[in-house]
Amino acid sequence: MKRSIANQIGVNSLNFKRVNHGFFLWFLLVIGFAQFSCRKDVPEASPDRFVDNLYGHTNKLELIIAYEQGADPYLNFGGFDNWRITDYNLNQLLATQNIPVKVPHVLDSMKNLGVLAQNNYTRQNIIDIAADVQRYSNKDSVKGIVLLFLNGYLIKDGVIETRVLGLTIDGSAVVAIFKPVISASSSKEAEKNMVEQSTITHEIGHVLGLVNNGVPPTSPHHDQANGSHCSNASCVMYWKNGAGEVVQYIDQFTTGQDITLFGEQCMADLKAK
Ligand SMILES: [Zn+2]
Ligand SMILES: [Zn+2]
Repeated sequence: MKRSIANQIGVNSLNFKRVNHGFFLWFLLVIGFAQFSCRKDVPEASPDRFVDNLYGHTNKLELIIAYEQGADPYLNFGGFDNWRITDYNLNQLLATQNIPVKVPHVLDSMKNLGVLAQNNYTRQNIIDIAADVQRYSNKDSVKGIVLLFLNGYLIKDGVIETRVLGLTIDGSAVVAIFKPVISASSSKEAEKNMVEQSTITHEIGHVLGLVNNGVPPTSPHHDQANGSHCSNASCVMYWKNGAGEVVQYIDQFTTGQDITLFGEQCMADLKAK
């Protein structure tokens, strides 16, 4: 079923079968860690939320990536192009809305920000840095989501958050990834690589309106107690993976060697939007 969806949207060139099985196992073991530290941003009253102007008004979406010196994103592991994961999942999610997503895979297609002035970042710092990187007004049919890789931690209410991997600025098209938290998430390189990709996909899922964050749920899967998250433990939008679910989660993906991260409920929400 999932494979046929992939074929429909023309991403079968991903060639799942070539993907190393061991790599997948690591990926699935650690994906739960990524959501562990997703911190729901403080909602700000916004007259024009990005998500409200997205569906029905967009025919191309570009991921604009910038990284601070020393915080550059991981590119590949074990011969596998990491960015295929974000690329595939975003394009699969938005295929029903006919919005192709352009995702850079190499550093040459990303902006090097050099060394930034501060060591850690407030919400406002992140908004300001993203404003310099954004290339679109997001009022037209071509839009951009800014993804920042920062060499520091989030400062929230004056406190340095050493366990927050990523942050979505609520209502905007801005995501920050805190590279020191990604680097410290595991002692194993494969795990770090996969934590990073699943964090990116998860945070962009929030930007795109999941769960009940601009896209209304079509089934009761909104885990309201944990913010804009999904109650499906097999979905990348789940707030975290409990230990009990991990084995089941691995089985689900390894049998088909499928890199689909969004669960069916989240996919259905997007389709109905
Ligand atoms: Zn989240
Ligand atoms: Zn979901």
